[in-house]
Amino acid sequence: MESRASDEPLPMDVELQLPKEPPKIHRLDQSVVNRIAAGEVIQRPVSAVKELVENSIDANSSSINVTIKDGGLKLIQVSDDGHGIRYEDLSILCERHTTSKLSSFEDLWSIKSMGFRGEALASMTYVGHVTVTTITKGQLHGYRVSYRDGVMEHEPKACAAVKGTQIMVENLFYNMAARRKTLQNSADDYSKIVDLISRFAIHHINVGFSCRKHGAMRADVHTVATSSRLDAIGSVYGVSVARNLMEIEASNDDPSGSPFEMHGFISNADYAAKKITMVLFINDRLVECSALKRAIEVVYSATLPKASKPFIYMTIVVPPENVDVNVHPTKREVSLLNQEVILEKIQTLVESRLRSSNDARTFQEETTEPSSSCYVKPCKEANLSPLVLGSKSQKIPVHKMVRTDSLNPFGRLHAYMDTQPIGHLDKSASLTAVRSSVRQRRYPNDSSGCVTVQQLLDEINSSCHSGLLDIVRHCTYIGMADDVFALLQHNTHLYLANVVNLSKELMYQQVLSRLEHFNAIQLSDPAPLKDLIMLALKEEDVDPESIENDAFKEKVAEMNTNLLKQKADVLEFHFCIHIDQHGNLSRLPVILDQYTPDMDRLPEFVLSLGNDVDWNDEKKMFQTIAATLGDFYAMHPPLLPNPSGEGLRFYKKRKLGCAEQNPCNTTGNDEISENDVDHELLSEAELAWSQREWSIQHVLFPSMRLFFKPPASMATNGTFVQVASLEKLYKIFERC
Ligand code: ADP
Ligand code: MG
Repeated sequence: MESRASDEPLPMDVELQLPKEPPKIHRLDQSVVNRIAAGEVIQRPVSAVKELVENSIDANSSSINVTIKDGGLKLIQVSDDGHGIRYEDLSILCERHTTSKLSSFEDLWSIKSMGFRGEALASMTYVGHVTVTTITKGQLHGYRVSYRDGVMEHEPKACAAVKGTQIMVENLFYNMAARRKTLQNSADDYSKIVDLISRFAIHHINVGFSCRKHGAMRADVHTVATSSRLDAIGSVYGVSVARNLMEIEASNDDPSGSPFEMHGFISNADYAAKKITMVLFINDRLVECSALKRAIEVVYSATLPKASKPFIYMTIVVPPENVDVNVHPTKREVSLLNQEVILEKIQTLVESRLRSSNDARTFQEETTEPSSSCYVKPCKEANLSPLVLGSKSQKIPVHKMVRTDSLNPFGRLHAYMDTQPIGHLDKSASLTAVRSSVRQRRYPNDSSGCVTVQQLLDEINSSCHSGLLDIVRHCTYIGMADDVFALLQHNTHLYLANVVNLSKELMYQQVLSRLEHFNAIQLSDPAPLKDLIMLALKEEDVDPESIENDAFKEKVAEMNTNLLKQKADVLEFHFCIHIDQHGNLSRLPVILDQYTPDMDRLPEFVLSLGNDVDWNDEKKMFQTIAATLGDFYAMHPPLLPNPSGEGLRFYKKRKLGCAEQNPCNTTGNDEISENDVDHELLSEAELAWSQREWSIQHVLFPSMRLFFKPPASMATNGTFVQVASLEKLYKIFERC
């Protein structure tokens, strides 16, 4: 094998310099050997991030945070809350082939950890400056130490530290000029890192991940530990991806054959993307397997030509002795015993799954009656919006060719995936059938609830405004124009749309159509209704001091609590609102996946559940509870003022402001700060606002496309306002 000792370019006249005599063979200097090896293990910044994150996972962490500066060339920082590194081990930590994970060669056959070669940290010290800060359980303080070329630069220094380990790699490839130059010119290293963390995040769902650029408020990947793989996929890749996935499973437990277990999610016919996403883990190791990828791609092209670039998440487990992890220095590729047999089994399974889902879909399309004006006739180009079809057949004047394709992310502030209405209609149609048959079985005599709710749903359908529906289905979300209005583009028109009104109505509609079929949001601490109602009453009050008033409020709170306790069964059964016999609220419904309401509004909600619901008339009861839930779950502006722009003044510290920040915990973050701003409150507000914006873009608008029936009243009550017609704007520009 040939290797060049450095990244220096070869001289142009190589041939002329070739010696006539056989050259003398000599032993390479150890430092050269190490640098060559390091260059192989750490090929790009993303390889360093992978090694560091794998170490954090091996250390049993439950939260891993990655910060990147300059695509990783300036800084890679990975912090975890794992078991830490012992003081005694720090001196050899970064030497080559030092590991805590492997002792004998035979261990390789049962290895469960990601690392085992003891090369990663060492390699990083040969091509970058590594600083480790770590603390182990039961210690009063941690240690920080820097490494260069495998050895410590100084004795470890005692320092304050939070649980776990933080590893910083600075100035990567500082001593490899050519590599640094190539990488500097490529802009995509950060996106490679984001992609990597996204993949880890949907596999290791018991670990919370974040990945952000240094100094950025918002993380580009952010997950919390969860027990649902679909939730994790939704929060990383978007709800619209998660919604279009089918679960697959296969196994072969015949030990004489090729035992394996496979579990995964694969996209259905409604998922459309420009390129395939394949996230593959074999024995918990993130790997690539081009043979498997190809095999699946072939099946998709043959079965679902319109959705031939699938999203695949797959985890395969084989007996450790059947997989050779040691075939690649970065452990990216593995080879499996009986690979062909396994691949073929998986390929056959994927194919039959796709065929059966596709058949069901066709069947639905043929038999479902178009239920309302929103039904889109299935056509060959089902995955193109009607407008794009139009643009194919007739020539569009240049001045009208503006971001009209809502399925094409070009020009959006943030691109997001889309789904087609047809598939959804199918699903909801079959779902409704299943629901009513289940209901019939469980409650053979209960037809009335069904009827009144159906009346409400019919009302929603009949008041649906077809023009607005078209806007909602095919608009492009551009961004928030202010705290309440989003800017949308539809064909050549720009609209402002009130997201509070929209989300309120959408939630209302969703409550009625999901009735009895909610997933639950479990409150970590059950909340006493009475306290919540008291809180809400006090907030409403103009004269909070009055004692007389207090006794009255207590009475109101008491009565409302009793009323809600009596209605607990109805609330639980239909709405997934759980109230225990002590009058504590412990569960709320998930109305839209990936979205929880602003809990600051919980007191108001409970009060209004007691006050505003009409319990006497069944239809009104469903209607008012759904409206109350709609109001609670609506995407109101957070209670803290928007910190961007004018609202920032709110966060100026009052005279007796908060305590000084602890300097020990702010390592690596040197871009602070105007001292007169209350940073804690400010970052709380920033988080609340950015989460809301995320939800508006990734939950509200994608869900509206699928489910929303905008009522006619919205055309005139200021919910939608047309602000400009691009054709007219173009005319103005032409004159300039
Ligand atoms: P390997 O992972 O192959 O053992 P590395 O060079 O990646 O080799 O790491 C060397 C050793 O350092 C690991 O075996 C582990 O004991 C320790 N280590 C590295 N990173 C961490 C971390 N984040 N938390 C705890 N221990 C760590
Ligand atoms: Mg490692």
